[in-house]
Amino acid sequence: MPDYPHFLIVFQRRFGNDRAGAGYLFSVRWPEGFRCPARGHPKGWALETKAWTFQCAKCAKQTSVTSGTIMHASKLALHVWLWAAYLMATHSNGISAMQLWQQLGLGSYKSAWLLAAKLRRAMVDPERNPLSGLVEIDETTINHRTRNDPPAQYAR
Ligand SMILES: [Zn+2]
Repeated sequence: MPDYPHFLIVFQRRFGNDRAGAGYLFSVRWPEGFRCPARGHPKGWALETKAWTFQCAKCAKQTSVTSGTIMHASKLALHVWLWAAYLMATHSNGISAMQLWQQLGLGSYKSAWLLAAKLRRAMVDPERNPLSGLVEIDETTINHRTRNDPPAQYAR
């Protein structure tokens, strides 16, 4: 797997357009070169008519660098997906859909919200285990009120 860019400027240089993003996804999916997903046939070529899609030379099975991912068949540009994933993964406090919308210049807040929701779902390890033993928390806020305080006092 290619090394991880630790700086925004490095990320922009490496993933500044869809072609670069597709190249990255190709290298992660097929580090030894194209492999047909149907039978592992070793030869294939990029299709001119379908973006980031390859066709097996033996069985004609077509597959995209995004197939099986949350990016597949999305109207969003590949580099926007990668930027969103990078921003979500690198913000220590997480990034809101509103921030994604504003920072990536997305068409609508709804698109940003859906993008963030898909990325959050994809970031969950399906085989995760509940925390156990001694658990340390870096920073947290726990809102509280006394029995007689009205709840609205804490509304923002
Ligand atoms: Zn094949």
